[in-house]
Amino acid sequence: MNKATQALLERIESKRDEVTALTQDLVRIPTVNPPGDAYEACARFLGERLQKRGFAVEYIRALGAPGDSDLRPRLNVVARWTGASPGECVHFNSHIDVVEAGPGWSFDPFGAEVANGRVYGRGTCDMKGGLASSIIACEALIESGLPIPGALEISGTVDEESGGFSGVGYLAERGYFSQPRVHHVIIPEPLGVDRICLGHRGVWWSEVETRGRIAHGSMPFLGDSAINHMSAFIHLLETQLQPRLQGRRTAEPVEPAGARVSTLNINSIHGGQVPQNYSTDARGWPTGDLPAPVVAHNCRAVLDRRFIAEENLEAVKQEIIDMLDELKRTRPGFDYGIRDIMSFVPTATPKDAPVVDATARAIARVLGREPSYIASPGTYDQKHIVRSGKLNDCIAYGPGILDLAHQPDEYVGIQELVDSAKIMALAALDLTAGKRQH
Ligand SMILES: [Zn+2]
Repeated sequence: MNKATQALLERIESKRDEVTALTQDLVRIPTVNPPGDAYEACARFLGERLQKRGFAVEYIRALGAPGDSDLRPRLNVVARWTGASPGECVHFNSHIDVVEAGPGWSFDPFGAEVANGRVYGRGTCDMKGGLASSIIACEALIESGLPIPGALEISGTVDEESGGFSGVGYLAERGYFSQPRVHHVIIPEPLGVDRICLGHRGVWWSEVETRGRIAHGSMPFLGDSAINHMSAFIHLLETQLQPRLQGRRTAEPVEPAGARVSTLNINSIHGGQVPQNYSTDARGWPTGDLPAPVVAHNCRAVLDRRFIAEENLEAVKQEIIDMLDELKRTRPGFDYGIRDIMSFVPTATPKDAPVVDATARAIARVLGREPSYIASPGTYDQKHIVRSGKLNDCIAYGPGILDLAHQPDEYVGIQELVDSAKIMALAALDLTAGKRQH
């Protein structure tokens, strides 16, 4: 390692308190999604900090996009620092939203308390710690005086936890994640300080509706229950589809390994009347709402099908439709509808892509060990960058333990914040210079 790189790493080491404080500041802005609170405060906090350090800052509100309102504007921030000579642009993208705190905390979820060498709070790990590391990495690079060509970008984007359509999805459609503006993207999601996440499985959400015929609940034989029809469909899913999916195994390094097969979850089901508050008193008399006695004429279920790189979306859909058609042929009275809710195909950045290669070398230099390569069971904002941005040179890499995300007493280790900042800085240094080494 040459002297200048050594000095850069020492500079980041000396920012241990700063990266901790920045993580704390971010966690104390409760950007809970849903509904999407405090986005503007968080975006402005980031923008003002980066502007002071020489970044050109842009605020992009996803006007009219899902969730956007004057009360809760979907405000994204993109900051760009341009180097002294031409080169490539490395973009660090973090989502600023966090999920609700939920019960079971022994720390204040938005207090960002430091204990045991960790910062505790909602979003420490997913992913304000990673955001803080990427900011410290870029600031240290700029302060180092090293000749950095190209550009460094940092974005704070909204709504990742609810699909990212008003965040990265909105920006990617407008060229913020495409060449020639951007060449390499690192998303500091909490995958662990020595792991590189290459991509994710595909997803198809759909809603299946079965139809019946309404009748009096005391004479169900005069009607036709949509719930019974749905039950027949679910029986087929359990006895035929799910065993078949268990046999489909991907070659991608999905973690946890249980997700290396295709999966199906029934996210929700609803048939008949909307549930009310039912209750009785000591005599057994109803005291709450009263249901009406009817046979359900309608039943809806949301299916969450996750598929592997070896499958294709059309076949994934057709497989479900074939089962429904089979029921239509064989089961008297069976009728159905199906509609798409959302789909994304699997992404997998090749292992020899520049961003993977540079990050792997940086991990080896900082930690003295080789990285492991993984893929994610669920999608994250990489899906928009690949689909709308048409950019494949993208990974998720950042501090924190994925299993802690969305849990009570979520935390990020301070050592990990520092180590990953060093790794991000070294990777960015090589990538902006277009350095390739295999
Ligand atoms: Zn996340």
